[in-house]
Amino acid sequence: MTQPLTRTDTIAYRGSGSAIYLNITNRCSSDCEFCLREWTDGVYGEVLTLTHEPEPDEVTQAVELEFLAGPADEVVFCGFGEPTMRLDVVLAVTEWLRLRRIPARLDTNGHGRLLNPDVDVPAALAAAGLRAVTVSLNAADPQSYDRICRPLFGKAYRAVIQFAEQCVQHDIQTTLTAVDYPGAELAGCETIATALGAAFRARGLATPGGRDRAKKTEA
Ligand code: SF4
Repeated sequence: MTQPLTRTDTIAYRGSGSAIYLNITNRCSSDCEFCLREWTDGVYGEVLTLTHEPEPDEVTQAVELEFLAGPADEVVFCGFGEPTMRLDVVLAVTEWLRLRRIPARLDTNGHGRLLNPDVDVPAALAAAGLRAVTVSLNAADPQSYDRICRPLFGKAYRAVIQFAEQCVQHDIQTTLTAVDYPGAELAGCETIATALGAAFRARGLATPGGRDRAKKTEA
């Protein structure tokens, strides 16, 4: 049953677990076939469509408000867009969280270095104190990746794998994920993750009215 959407312009929100999720942009460098944005405005009863992109102080205020409502094990950059489109905000908020000993995780499509070519993004994330990263791989070969994720960049698949590899090298807990869509090469994705020294997790395909609806917020 569809949950009613109760808030608008949501920056921080809760899911089914013990994390606080952050929604800092609606822009993305992919156009995945399975993206929730194709058929919904939000998840968990929250509208994630932003009328403006929040500045770091708005994000940290939203985090503080969520902690007033209850504890959380971690804060996750996620939402309805690719967080590294706004790397400066991710770094500033991660630093703010580190100073408060709050674990931070980034859910990303792995395009960080393509989007910020002048920055060593994994090194900057590690320096800011990022504990963990979840990188969407979604395919075991470049052709499938381009077909499914429709990235803005050429050779994005190679860049995603390099991004994950560099996160591992910087001691960021790294997990590769793949959405379990029809025909997904989950075993091949897991083999790639293992070779990089990363963990692997398959994610349920969220569909309108489907079993996994509202569980996934970013690929
Ligand atoms: S699923 Fe995630 S990476 Fe793919 S288009 Fe949507 S927001 Fe971007």
